[in-house]
Amino acid sequence: MPESPTRSAPDRLRDREPAPHDRPAGGTPSGAVAPTPLLQPHEPHPFAAENLAGASGLLFVCEHGGKRFPERLGPLGLAPEHQEAHFVWDIGALELARSLSRAFDAPLLHQRYSRLLCDPNRRPDVPSYIPAEGEGVPVPGNRDLSDAERAQRTEEIWRPFHRAVAAELDRRCAQGRTRALVTVHSFTPRFHGVARPWEMGVLYDRDPALSPALYDAMARRLGDRAGRNEPYAVGPETDYTIPVHGEQRGLPCVEIEVRNDQLRDAAGVARWSETLAAGLREACAAVGIEIGQPAGSRQQQGKRA
Ligand SMILES: [Zn+2]
Repeated sequence: MPESPTRSAPDRLRDREPAPHDRPAGGTPSGAVAPTPLLQPHEPHPFAAENLAGASGLLFVCEHGGKRFPERLGPLGLAPEHQEAHFVWDIGALELARSLSRAFDAPLLHQRYSRLLCDPNRRPDVPSYIPAEGEGVPVPGNRDLSDAERAQRTEEIWRPFHRAVAAELDRRCAQGRTRALVTVHSFTPRFHGVARPWEMGVLYDRDPALSPALYDAMARRLGDRAGRNEPYAVGPETDYTIPVHGEQRGLPCVEIEVRNDQLRDAAGVARWSETLAAGLREACAAVGIEIGQPAGSRQQQGKRA
């Protein structure tokens, strides 16, 4: 589904989380002058939702699929050759998440702005939340930020996304509609010069059943090309969505990582979507998570992004 400009999230989510630029300007209750909003009225809301009417028991989240920068900040001083690097966004992850969303007829929630602004999969108090460099490349626009500038990114970019994810999970879990949370990421084939042999990884921390079952299902298909907590593990210092939106509410949850050289074209995305969908169906069946039937005809009709 193409992203419609300016807040394609549904009205009820917009009502709960007004865009930063919808807020009254001109001052705070204490009389201090409010900072100029990062996002202008014509720029998209950080949060986007697709297929919220989806019938599946799965809900997909893609935190790093966006590469936008607010116009007022620009690309944070990055040279053009670095503005679409893997440390700016998860290459191919949003297309993969969309394909899985269609395959399962499941909702997809995603963040539109670059992880470099403030990482949607980090707590705001960890050092990597607003990184001063990306794999050795300085990010000038993230250096020497004031506390107010950091707080503004959190309030305008990070918090609207997580409030919306929480609200949607509250709603669907209360209705018994969502039974598992799946986050979709991609990783770079080489990091600081070291090659990563895994084509995909199943990442988890405290999820006791779904994640191990998915790893088993993928390892049966891929052998050692599937990684368990590779190329990194999930934890509260390096993640936010799985620990907070999944584990804290006792929801089965798993993070999927696919090496981004596998997702460079539509054929690669389709191949991985099919493989992961088969693995997810097998894992959910093995641990008794009811996710409903595949999307069938909707899957066939879906447009590829
Ligand atoms: Zn990621």
